[in-house]
Parts: sequence; structure tokens; C-alpha cells
Amino acid sequence: MKNVKVLLDLQEAMNSSRMVEREKHKVPLEVADLKNLFEERETKFLATKQEFEQLQMEKREKEREIEEEREKVERAKAKLMSIKTNNEDSAMLTEIEGTKRTNTVREDELLAVLARDEEVEKRLAELSAEVEELGGRYRERMVDIEARMAKFDKDISRLQAKKSEVAASLDKGLARRFEMIFDRRGGVAIVPARNQSCTGCHMNISHQLFILLQREERIYSCPNCNRIIYFEGDVAEEQAGG
Ligand SMILES: [Zn+2]
Repeated sequence: MKNVKVLLDLQEAMNSSRMVEREKHKVPLEVADLKNLFEERETKFLATKQEFEQLQMEKREKEREIEEEREKVERAKAKLMSIKTNNEDSAMLTEIEGTKRTNTVREDELLAVLARDEEVEKRLAELSAEVEELGGRYRERMVDIEARMAKFDKDISRLQAKKSEVAASLDKGLARRFEMIFDRRGGVAIVPARNQSCTGCHMNISHQLFILLQREERIYSCPNCNRIIYFEGDVAEEQAGG
């Protein structure tokens, strides 16, 4: 029966298409670990970069403060040289000492910033190299993966086109019913009946139905699983005959 052959072709095209889709979905998983690692390091790198920039600001601020205080001391010293009275003299000296003490504290703070700065800069350089290496590796893999995905897409469209072409020769109602069974029965919508039973669900079918199947006048379904069933003998002979 012509319809049986068409339905078998349709089932094959639909299953091939489904298989290719499954393979296609697996491809991005191959780089998932690399992608995660790259993103994790990139995030860390950006955070470290921000920390580094923050430290640069702190450093400049401290240096500016120290410079200002230094100038203040210089100005006070110059003023001191021009002042003659002892009273103002001692007040001025106290102020100079105070400023110097403040600056010693600021210089210690600056040293702490510089130490952190050095450590962060080193960490930043390491992360930068790592991100660059991972990024390069990731992009390289993606070129390969995108090429393979494109190939899968091409195969899928080819199979979809074949499916449409095959389905076009079927009655619309039958084609729709077939697709529904295909989805519900794990991609097996048409099966041969053998020894008076459905090979899809292995339930016996009535003798009467089995006789009807052998007449091959129309499409019959298994009363149990609803799959389309056909009498195998004929197809086997057809295939044997080429
Ligand atoms: Zn069945």
C-alpha cells in the first residue's frame, strides 16, 4: 500500500531530524565548563580592576595631602625666619611639629596603600593573562562549535524539507494524526503487525483486523496504542524485490 511506504518514509525523516536536533543540543555542553570558567575569571578580573583603580585614587589623594602638608611646613619655616618675637616663635614651632607628626601618619598610610597596590597590581596582571588565555581558547572552540551547529542546522532544514515533501502526498487528516502519534509514542507512529499482534505495544489484535490488514485497502490503527499498523509481509516482499 502506497500510504504505508509514505508513512514509513515520513517516520524515518522525522526521526532523523529529531536525532540531529538532539546532537545539536549536546554541542554547546562541550564548552559549558570552559565558558563558566572564563566568565568566572572575567568577573574576578573586572572586580580586581575596579579595586586597583580605587587604590590609585587613594594613592593620589594621600600623596596630595602629604604634599600640601609639606608645603605648609615650608611656608611656616620661611615665616619663622622673618619673625623676631619669641612668643610667636614657639607657637609656630609647635604648629610645625604638629604638621610633621600628621604627615608621618599620612606617610605610613601611604605605605600601606602602596603595599596593597603592589599586591593588587600583581593579581590583576595574573588574572588578565588568565582571562586572555581562557578567552582565546573559548573563542577558538566556539568557531568550531558554530561551524558544527551550522552544519546541524543545514541537516535539520534538509530533513524538514524532506518531511514536508513526503507529508504533502498524504491526506491532511492522516498526516496530522500521524504527527500526534509520533509525538506521543516516542517517535514510533507506524509499526508492522506480526503474528496477529502489534509490534509497537505487543498486544494481540483481533483475527478480523489482521485479515483486514492483509487486504491493505486502508489505514488501520492498533486498538490499544493507536499506532498505525500494517501487514508486514507485503513490505518485506517489496523490499526484497527492490
Ligand atoms: Zn499497539
